[in-house]
Amino acid sequence: MKKFSDYLQAIARTNHPGNGLKTQWLFYCGMLFLSRDKWWGDFRHRPSRHEGIDICWHRNEQTHEVHGFTPETRIPAMENGTVVNICDDFLGRTLVVKQKIPEASEFKIIFTYAHIVPEANILIGQQIKKDQVIATVCDTQKNPQLVPHLHFSCFEIIEPVPETRLDWNVFTDPEKVNMICPVFL
Ligand SMILES: [Zn+2]
Repeated sequence: MKKFSDYLQAIARTNHPGNGLKTQWLFYCGMLFLSRDKWWGDFRHRPSRHEGIDICWHRNEQTHEVHGFTPETRIPAMENGTVVNICDDFLGRTLVVKQKIPEASEFKIIFTYAHIVPEANILIGQQIKKDQVIATVCDTQKNPQLVPHLHFSCFEIIEPVPETRLDWNVFTDPEKVNMICPVFL
């Protein structure tokens, strides 16, 4: 829980320097891990359980003014890691990042930052540092039902897959990955 709440603070600090600590984050149920609910469009059901957490709505602790993300919203890295792939998702691009936490698992741990536009200097094979800005949020004008947001997931890769082939075909295959709740990292 600490790591995830620290990450939300890092996003706030990155985008509202000096005011980040006054940011409170807001979630519809459908934005949460394993939810079957949609938080857009007809608010009915997702085709499959949500593989991560969607992040965008936040408010100022004092004024209670609610804001979403915009295509200018900058996304920092949650932890140090290595970019092993950059692939498409249904809204934009996904950064696939291998984490250096071998003691946590005998398997490979992957973080994905999805529905984003990677920074121009972020390339496959590159090391990234905690809090480094790695992307901006994808513009959703072509999918107006959805607002710009970050989808963050954590996966344990349980079947050997070449790193450059780690994409959403793999991440949605329960024989190849275990989904880990980001809140319990
Ligand atoms: Zn999502």
